[in-house]
Amino acid sequence: MNEKNEQHEQHEQGAPTVALVTGANKGIGYEIAAGLGALGWRVGVGARDEGRREAAVEALRAGGADAFGVPLDVTDDASVAAAAELLADRFGRLDVLVNNAAVTGGSPQEPTLVDLAEVRLAVETNVLGVIRVTNALLPLLRRSASPRIVNMSSGVGSLTLQSRPGEETGPISAAYSPSKTFLNAVTVQYAKELRDTGILINLACPGYCATDLNGHRGVRTPAQGAAIAVRLAALPDGGPSGGFFNEDGPLPW
Ligand code: NAP
Repeated sequence: MNEKNEQHEQHEQGAPTVALVTGANKGIGYEIAAGLGALGWRVGVGARDEGRREAAVEALRAGGADAFGVPLDVTDDASVAAAAELLADRFGRLDVLVNNAAVTGGSPQEPTLVDLAEVRLAVETNVLGVIRVTNALLPLLRRSASPRIVNMSSGVGSLTLQSRPGEETGPISAAYSPSKTFLNAVTVQYAKELRDTGILINLACPGYCATDLNGHRGVRTPAQGAAIAVRLAALPDGGPSGGFFNEDGPLPW
């Protein structure tokens, strides 16, 4: 933290909660930002493309949310460091981080055919991106009275749901699904390390929602998918940590 932080907005009693949602320019991330904005929180719209980011901020503000733009490419160290600096300068802390940004990793996804570059991209974005962003922002989260981290996972990251005979969730997927399993495993390790800090970190499964990610084949709306993330972002102190939830409750690993 530098001396500019002396001038940031103090986290006084009653000061609005400050949240950052990665990949918030569209889809479920946009709806998470809208949902957090509806709680009266200040919401950072993390997005890599300036035009799409500013359009989302404008739309969220038109809907009544106190939204602001945060330039952010989760695969880029310098971009993530700059986002942390922006939040440090402006607020001196972060209360809630929603790691939502993700990619599928192209096609084909059959393990015998998959392009290793696409596997790398899925892991770089969906797993390393989450670690990169989380670790850069942890110093700011540690300054919050009730820090929360929500990692957007998927039912396709559940090995149980993937392998239960007759119930295999989702298509064959050698990049995207394993990246979410990896994310689940890493999140459990974060929860173990952060157990005594007051930071609650959980995984959210939005269900199959119609977004660009799946060519809008999903059967739920992005807003329905966002609801579990909003709920986990607003957990009370003493709530669960290291869990994997959809809106109906815990999911199998
Ligand atoms: P989406 O519409 O494709 O949106 C993905 C978002 O991630 C976009 O804003 C995209 O930004 C951003 N993003 C991708 N790579 C990025 C990077 N390197 N840096 C910053 N932002 C990046 O997907 P979605 O369906 O809303 O998915 C949101 C989350 O829910 C993901 O974690 C996904 O895995 C999870 N999920 C979705 C479903 C579903 O049915 N849709 C089901 C289970 C889980 P650009 O516009 O710049 O590409």
